[in-house]
Amino acid sequence: MTGVPADAPVSLDQLKQIMNEFAKERNWEQFHSPRNLLLAMVGEVGELSEIFQWKGEVPKGLPDWKEEEKVHLGEELSDVLLYLVRLSDMCGVDLGKAALRKVQLNAKKYPKKVSEEDPSSTTKDPATSEEA
Ligand SMILES: [Mg+2]
Repeated sequence: MTGVPADAPVSLDQLKQIMNEFAKERNWEQFHSPRNLLLAMVGEVGELSEIFQWKGEVPKGLPDWKEEEKVHLGEELSDVLLYLVRLSDMCGVDLGKAALRKVQLNAKKYPKKVSEEDPSSTTKDPATSEEA
């Protein structure tokens, strides 16, 4: 369907194009309003949450999980991502650029030096704090 080799890196633009084609081929564009997509994504976040529900804290890498549980997790993570990509597209937001911009804003808000000295610190960048 995608024409992309299985082991090739995947970009947000590729996912956007794939979702566009997928919707067009099924005449689903009529249903893909921003509100509908947001609500669908929230539903998928619920499905993702169910996977972790009642498991308590789990270690990184999920070493004790069965393969089928990890496959299911990948499916629900993908559902959330695909709806997020589609929602961004239908809102005219370049998700990749917006995400990079947000990381830059976060880097200013949480300067590296402060984080290295005290990871629990929430000290704000004096240049951007309201007291400055
Ligand atoms: Mg799902």
